[in-house]
Amino acid sequence: VATLEDAGFQRVDSRRSADVILFNTCSVRQHAEDKVYSALGRLKHVKEHRPGTVIGVIGCMAQKDRQRIFRQAPHVDLVVGPGQLSRLVELIERAKAGDGPQLAISLDRHAGTRAEVAGSFTRLDFNVPARRPSGAQAMVRAMFGCDNFCTYCIVPSVRGPEQCRPADEIVTETRRLADAGCIEVTLLGQTVNSYVDRSGGATVRLSDLLYRIHDIDGLQRIRFVTNYPKHMTDDLLAAVRDLDRVCPYLHVPAQSGSDAVLRRMKRGYTAAFYRDMLRRIRETIPNAAVTSDFIVGFCGETDADFEQTLDLVRHSRFKNSFIFKYSTRPGTKAAELYADDVSEAVKRRRNNELLAAQNAVSLEDNLRQVGRQVEVLVEGPSKSARKQGQEGDRQELVGRTTCDRIVVF
Ligand code: SAH
Ligand code: SF4
Repeated sequence: VATLEDAGFQRVDSRRSADVILFNTCSVRQHAEDKVYSALGRLKHVKEHRPGTVIGVIGCMAQKDRQRIFRQAPHVDLVVGPGQLSRLVELIERAKAGDGPQLAISLDRHAGTRAEVAGSFTRLDFNVPARRPSGAQAMVRAMFGCDNFCTYCIVPSVRGPEQCRPADEIVTETRRLADAGCIEVTLLGQTVNSYVDRSGGATVRLSDLLYRIHDIDGLQRIRFVTNYPKHMTDDLLAAVRDLDRVCPYLHVPAQSGSDAVLRRMKRGYTAAFYRDMLRRIRETIPNAAVTSDFIVGFCGETDADFEQTLDLVRHSRFKNSFIFKYSTRPGTKAAELYADDVSEAVKRRRNNELLAAQNAVSLEDNLRQVGRQVEVLVEGPSKSARKQGQEGDRQELVGRTTCDRIVVF
């Protein structure tokens, strides 16, 4: 958005008045892709009424489906992968000038040497300025891509090889944001806690980077997502404990509580390892809020496997968990090796059961907050304030605590 605005584009409220309509897409689950295809279908008439409108699909689905998008929706003008976004303005101009469909994607993981594939992804994207949910908050990319290849996951294919951005660059960008009034930054990476930068000679790990960012004037809150359980090292936990601007909030997805399932997912740890990691977090940072992701109904998941996941949720005191029904992704190892053999009905039931178990834990956790005073960073009017069109002094607001608890007041 920032790049487009710099180039003179403006946001409009309705697609009817837009000359350019872009879908920023996700490929992690099938459902998200289905929604984009049906939304594209609904735009056909727009193109008939106003042929000059430029319609584009950007992000992971563009990288994954490429030509298929043009085939399925011939009225699309642009298909631009996540590693090519800095060319977006140029490609929009070309489409507007009537140059025909524009396709810009990065190399496949096996289409060249590691350096060639990586080069086709990151440097471009790194030039795109930080995303800003609000004036006071920003997201800064620390890493691009992923090398883990968890068997269910499409991310390593669509986001390319894991690459860490030089620490100096991250610090400079964060300082610039702070100078412009930003008080909260979130460092982003698929496995952000395995961040390491050796470009300047010395080794800079995530904990070192946190120390450097911590000294930037004006910043009040520093977060980082997402953490990989195996890389939750002591130096990182100590940094979170010792740096008061680093929020005691850790998102560390477990995915499953069953060793058999974790093995098939190729996560590289056992449930006992995960529990021990949690114990180390609680010991070092007693006030930390920990959150997790889970996939239910992964290939071959039995009732007994699922019981172990339930047990992990009941006993781990997660602040909240994001729970997903397994969605098979063509091109991944799981799609190739294992049958998607848990029925949709069972996936749905397990999803609901796990959610209920997590909700019970979250409620207990929330009840412990009653009567406490917390510091909230306001993000804007609450949902109901927006719905009711409230304004002025009596407007209901929503914000977050340092532990990422949502507060409406
Ligand atoms: N890099 C992060 C998460 C990336 S995707 C990590 O490793 O934790 C975000 C979440 O989507 C994952 O944690 C996982 O729970 C879920 N997810 C990924 N692939 C999925 C699939 N094929 N089906 C269902 N959920 C999936
Ligand atoms: Fe996907 Fe695993 Fe990489 Fe996360 S760590 S992005 S789940 S492959």
